[in-house]
Amino acid sequence: MITILGAGLGGLVLARILHINGMDVRIFESDASASARHQGGMLDMHVETGQAAIEAAGLYEEFRKMVLEEGDAFRILDKTGRVHLAEVGNDLRPEVERGQLRAMLIASLPEGIIRWGHRATAIAAEADGAYTISFANGLSVRTDVLIGADGAWSKVRPLLTNIQPVYTGLSFAEARLTEVSSRFPEQAEIVGTGTMMALSERKGILAHRQPGDVICSYAAFEAPAEWSAEVTSKAGGLLEDVLARFRGWDRPLVGLIAGSDAPLVARPLFALPVGHRWDRRAGVTLIGDAAHLMSPFAGEGANLAMRDGADLAQAILAHDDIEAALASYETAMFVRSESAAGESAAGLAMCFNDRTPAPVVDFFRGMQPDAPVSMGGG
Ligand SMILES: Cc1cc2nc3c(=O)[nH]c(=O)nc-3n(C[C@H](O)[C@H](O)[C@H](O)COP(=O)(O)OP(=O)(O)OC[C@H]3O[C@@H](n4cnc5c(N)ncnc54)[C@H](O)[C@@H]3O)c2cc1C
Repeated sequence: MITILGAGLGGLVLARILHINGMDVRIFESDASASARHQGGMLDMHVETGQAAIEAAGLYEEFRKMVLEEGDAFRILDKTGRVHLAEVGNDLRPEVERGQLRAMLIASLPEGIIRWGHRATAIAAEADGAYTISFANGLSVRTDVLIGADGAWSKVRPLLTNIQPVYTGLSFAEARLTEVSSRFPEQAEIVGTGTMMALSERKGILAHRQPGDVICSYAAFEAPAEWSAEVTSKAGGLLEDVLARFRGWDRPLVGLIAGSDAPLVARPLFALPVGHRWDRRAGVTLIGDAAHLMSPFAGEGANLAMRDGADLAQAILAHDDIEAALASYETAMFVRSESAAGESAAGLAMCFNDRTPAPVVDFFRGMQPDAPVSMGGG
């Protein structure tokens, strides 16, 4: 029995491939149900990672049905609203809504594989080599093979390393506009059918279309790690603080944040060090953000999580010896994630500096279609 902690995209791909190949697998997930939490915005699926994983999971046809038409169009503006670059998409990196993608993977597993409402609070390594997971609901389970697919603040990671994610210095405030064609026509126009990044003065307003006449936006800016906690407790809260940071920016751009139907959500961005790795420990490994949390400026996090899930499943299926499988998966994953984490860190530095948006525009102008920098919805 393979035990996975976390039913995010990585854990679900892993479970799906193991299950369709006849292996016993279970996932313990902290959310109470599949619909307990809004899953955020759009993800562009890369050929070699996200799409390859979906293919391995046997779900490519279904995936194609949820692709947002022309959702991979891309434009770069500055704070005045001037358009510096506008590209139509080429379908190499189709955009899908994260919630739909996750729902597809959940529906592809039989009832009972995902045990909802199981938030791991502690994991103990036993003398016989097994692991005991204790859950907030009072239950506990033992397992010989434990896969940490439990995201940025993984409870499994401390079994392998003491390294913790570090704040990147950049925070997002997430906004959401609905019924945009009738209620926010100016914003619908500047965002277009895909992704829009307005960058100036080391800050940005980043937005993308979602299915259902919705635009999801992020105000992005440098702030201390404690920013959101401090601001939330003040009168005016997040919204007033964020709008003050974008005073003087083009009115329709600021409207992407000011018009939010829901209260803004603070998302401070954390990352593990580029090249993060650990020594092999019997019976346990990590996939996705648990292994290599990075900023979203290469658009790789979810893609890598899915590819990790697919690769680990294939390694387990290909080896009789679980240790050989985990070692072979980790060797390839460390190389792949180091490269993507380096691109993410470089992408963040390129987007948020004193010359922006010029370096980003130059980069995209000089680039081939398969771009290393993209911004999805998380
Ligand atoms: C603003 C933003 C934009 C992004 N845009 C993109 C993009 O465009 N493209 C892209 O590829 N990536 C993007 N990412 C990154 C992407 O969101 C992550 O890399 C991806 O979700 C990682 O998947 P995962 O399965 O490893 O972890 P998660 O998606 O975090 O899933 C982990 C799961 O584990 C569960 N869990 C956590 N703790 C416990 C516990 N103690 N017990 C039980 N269950 C637990 C959680 O509830 C969750 O279901 C973005 C991220 C952000 C913040």
